[in-house]
Amino acid sequence: MCLVGHFTCFAGHHDGTMRANPGPGRAMTVCEAQTMKEFKEYMCVVCGFVYSEEAGLPDEGFPPGTRWEDIPANWVCPECGAAKEDFEMVEV
Ligand SMILES: [Zn+2]
Repeated sequence: MCLVGHFTCFAGHHDGTMRANPGPGRAMTVCEAQTMKEFKEYMCVVCGFVYSEEAGLPDEGFPPGTRWEDIPANWVCPECGAAKEDFEMVEV
């Protein structure tokens, strides 16, 4: 887990997926680069609906660029009603 605690850092508390550790002294740089530039996608494990941070979900009130961590915890899948916690991060 990086020092600033961004959701998109190595640990990804959400699915336990570990990223390769770039080594001492570099973790912060990698973390910040990913946080600033890389959008993630999250897929509903129930129906396969994909939420893209880059695209957002304008119909749901989330403009493009809305981070997953900014999605309300009580948000549910617009397709099947699955809880946010039923989404898994997918690499893009
Ligand atoms: Zn779903």
